[in-house]
Amino acid sequence: MKVAVFFDRDGTLNEEKGDYITRYEDIKIYPFAFEAVRIVNSLGFLAIVTTNQAGVAKGLLKEEDVEEIHRKMKEEFEKNNAKISAFYYCPAHPDHSKEGLDCRKPLIGMALKAKEEFGIDLEKSFVIGDKVEDILFAKNFGGKGILVLTGYGRKSKEEIERIGIKPDFVAENVLTAVEWIKERWEEGR
Ligand SMILES: [Mg+2]
Repeated sequence: MKVAVFFDRDGTLNEEKGDYITRYEDIKIYPFAFEAVRIVNSLGFLAIVTTNQAGVAKGLLKEEDVEEIHRKMKEEFEKNNAKISAFYYCPAHPDHSKEGLDCRKPLIGMALKAKEEFGIDLEKSFVIGDKVEDILFAKNFGGKGILVLTGYGRKSKEEIERIGIKPDFVAENVLTAVEWIKERWEEGR
């Protein structure tokens, strides 16, 4: 069984634009995100992206557009010697669909799909993200949730404190989040 690090996309690997990203040209990958994925690779963990993309349900972009963005992102990471094994996205939104919502974080459809495809031990796995949903996603499948302060992170931190959820760690960004994972892993073995 493998360990996975589930990366949120917008606000975690790339800048949060404050609106739906509908084309690759609007993806600004944080320069430190490549190193974060390289460290995950070096630990022998799977780097997987899980992202809610309700813009599809809202008709702002098509599934092919999301897939095209992910293909190009994967290539860009590869150019930087960083391997992302898979991109999972959830196109649904409760205002637009009653079906297919089980993939929408904080529900764990995407984690279950990854588990089935790669043989992942979810309880040993991690989520890194900038929203409350990302932390709850981790908790819902029994993994560890790390909140980053990029993207909506600072706002989410206040919200998390207000509703009383505890992330396992709060990191400045995705790189410091992965460094925390690495330290824990090395201490634990
Ligand atoms: Mg996000």
